[in-house]
Amino acid sequence: MIDERVEPFYDEVARRNPGEVEFHQAVREVLESLGPVLAKYPEFARHKIIERICEPERQVIFRVPWRDDRGEVQINRGFRVEFNSALGPYKGGLRFHPSVYLGTVKFLGFEQVFKNALTGMPIGGAKGGADFDPKGRSDTEVMAFCQSFMTELFRHLGEYTDVPAGDAGVGVRESGYLFGQYKRVTNRYESGVLTGKGTDWGGALVRTEATGYGTAFFANEMLKAQGRSLDGMTCVVSGSGNVALYAIEKVHHLGGRVIACSDSGGVVVDEKGVDVSLLTQVKEVERGRLRDYAERRPGVRHLEGGNVWDVPCDIALPCATQNELTGRDARALVAGGCTLVAEGANMPTTPDGIRLLREAGVAFAPGKAANAGGVATSALEMQQNASRDSWTFDYTEERLADIMAGIHALCYETAEEFGVPSDYVMGANIAGFLRVGRAMVALGLV
Ligand code: NDP
Repeated sequence: MIDERVEPFYDEVARRNPGEVEFHQAVREVLESLGPVLAKYPEFARHKIIERICEPERQVIFRVPWRDDRGEVQINRGFRVEFNSALGPYKGGLRFHPSVYLGTVKFLGFEQVFKNALTGMPIGGAKGGADFDPKGRSDTEVMAFCQSFMTELFRHLGEYTDVPAGDAGVGVRESGYLFGQYKRVTNRYESGVLTGKGTDWGGALVRTEATGYGTAFFANEMLKAQGRSLDGMTCVVSGSGNVALYAIEKVHHLGGRVIACSDSGGVVVDEKGVDVSLLTQVKEVERGRLRDYAERRPGVRHLEGGNVWDVPCDIALPCATQNELTGRDARALVAGGCTLVAEGANMPTTPDGIRLLREAGVAFAPGKAANAGGVATSALEMQQNASRDSWTFDYTEERLADIMAGIHALCYETAEEFGVPSDYVMGANIAGFLRVGRAMVALGLV
């Protein structure tokens, strides 16, 4: 339920941003938590912090023309939404997917503002991308697209201005082409302008693994708070991309067993525990499908078009995409014995899904807290680039684990302070808002 103190702000956001349903959903979820904050700290209303925080500081939309391998001209649309820079330079990934439109980028940018604040690092929030589908495209085509995209975007970037990273559809290959073009058009080797770089050319160790590892660390912290641990737990993970892959790996390191994962074609059920090296080979190296994984591993079932949330488990980690875990799926998870959900993806659970999980007593962590390990490690990459240094894998992973424990403690304690113990949604939204809101008040009307 949205508090009557914040209802008018939501109505205004919906009116000013017509048709951007994911953005409305993301704003609503945050505003639903803010009634008690406005009651306790009236200065936020006086400074119109809610109205200002819902309005991006800058939005850029641009044409991306490029030529495919057949010599035909293709036109895509590129976006960068620089949402909030109260805490530091704009920071947030780029998504290349055919479904990307302004509403996707704004929802992701809005989430990013609070997520970045929760990390405690000096980074603002942004997001970008394009309606380009890298799937099935050759390396030459992906390079042509990335070069054209960066030829426009570079003028808005800078290591103290706006620092993109990867997201769905943008991995190390795409980051390489993007960084190469940035370097060429600016004539500067500005390592800190982009994170998620290859480790041979300025990237931080652990950045590739960080979002998935961080989600597993966060889930483990939630279990610790209940006097339990991942050890011996069965887990299902949706997706089999970057976040999913490394969430699976870390769950295994922490003693759990991931028995199912998915892609947009279906689900694999692997009771012995998903084989991460085979999955990496199939999905990352060969850019293949999950059915190829199942064909190569005896005893594994591939359910074409199946639903991963129908697989009974103790813990669920949605790591694929937004709104992939619905009310119906929440019921299936509860019926299958699930007691904890931590979001590796951004906004993967629908509002109905979240409500049903919470009503059933399932511990639920929103993505802005549970998947913040990716951007936190990006900030560690920026630190290394700025000091021309590079840290070891173990040291960086330790920092990541500490950061995730810190975010968990902040959400947990904030929820207690506001009288909603163990409510990670309220805890994350309020703690993130307080950090950004206080900085905005301090910086004046800008
Ligand atoms: P990838 O593109 O690497 O992987 C996405 C995965 O999700 C793929 O396996 C894809 O399958 C699958 N998928 C997409 N749509 C569906 C669907 N409807 N049903 C089932 N599976 C689906 O992306 P990432 O792993 O990088 O990102 C995943 C999520 O995590 C996104 O929400 C992203 O915003 C979020 N995130 C990512 C961060 C990062 O560091 N990468 C940081 C923080 C959040 P297929 O191959 O068939 O398309």
